[in-house]
Amino acid sequence: MSAPHGLAPWASRAESSRGRRVAEPPAPTRDAFQRDRDRIVHSSAFRRLVYKTQVFLNHEGDLFRTRLTHSLEVAQLGRSIARGLSLNEDLVETIALAHDLGHTPFGHAGQDALDECMAPWGGFEHNLQSLRVVDRLEQRYPAWDGLNLCFETREGILKRCPLSVAQRLETEEPGGVGRRFLDGTQPSLEAQLANLADEIAYNAHDLDDGLRSGLLTLDQVREVPLVARHCESALAEHPVLAEMSPRRLMAETIRRMLSAQVYDVLAASGAALQAAAPTDAWAARDHRGLLCFSAGMKHESQALKRFLFAALYRHPQVTQTTDRAKQVVRELFAAYLAAPQHLPDEFRGADLPRGVADYIAGMTDRFARREHLRLSGVDLFADAG
Ligand code: MG
Repeated sequence: MSAPHGLAPWASRAESSRGRRVAEPPAPTRDAFQRDRDRIVHSSAFRRLVYKTQVFLNHEGDLFRTRLTHSLEVAQLGRSIARGLSLNEDLVETIALAHDLGHTPFGHAGQDALDECMAPWGGFEHNLQSLRVVDRLEQRYPAWDGLNLCFETREGILKRCPLSVAQRLETEEPGGVGRRFLDGTQPSLEAQLANLADEIAYNAHDLDDGLRSGLLTLDQVREVPLVARHCESALAEHPVLAEMSPRRLMAETIRRMLSAQVYDVLAASGAALQAAAPTDAWAARDHRGLLCFSAGMKHESQALKRFLFAALYRHPQVTQTTDRAKQVVRELFAAYLAAPQHLPDEFRGADLPRGVADYIAGMTDRFARREHLRLSGVDLFADAG
């Protein structure tokens, strides 16, 4: 058994896991969290992430992040920080790779449209859907639905949960993953870290993709303090960057920004953990804010996020494609609900609207577009190539 060495007292330990919903004998060469990671990597939902939109629609270019490359970047950042804090790297990686499995095609536009369609039947939310994917929708085992993952992995995947849903989960699984939302406690430190790594990753790569697409300009992003500071330091150390392609300056700036954020989380969280010194991973769940940026970095990171929201996510060219993406999802939903014979058998259960939502949520961008064309005769992205 390759148990990770040198874990902090408050780190999660596979041997102390609260286990799986269906008990299984241990694997001979992998611990429980490593085994969960492997189950996620081999799932069909994971493979589909490669053709799902992060911000830019998948067909808009080959160099933009997709949900898959985003998840790999989150896992890389999460592992680096976990190593520095002596947290469980494998658990952070596992949660990072699974955290977006429930995302619909076409990014947040797809999720918003599906949520509207599902409003009469309990709505749609991607964190809940990620849990649904690993608990029920993956069908790969003879004796159970889902991947039968450990409590700690499932807890990390369920990042957010409305109280009404938490109450339902608590009834179905007393003391399970819904419980902390009722008690107001935190998930494991590794889950909190995966969440923070997600934020660091998308702030940096959306900036990069925004510049690559031409929707953001270098002058514009250099007004954001976090970017400006690292751009200036890159130019001061390498004046030659001013004459080289702007891509190199941006790459060096983003690299410095990422490093600064990682070191900041290491310092701020290291200090908070030493001060609180929870006795073990369970005691750590009673503390808020142990995994954190310093106040200064938090402020700068929020300013970058606000900038991206206003300048990129709300850019007319982005919102124009999101409107069409929403239309695809809405029309697919209506078409399947009216003619369920178009659905594969496994999605035509007693709860038809939920089956339709599960089927649409699992689609890649290009499959949704093709299926919409097949059912409606209209290709809403015909001009997009
Ligand atoms: Mg994410």
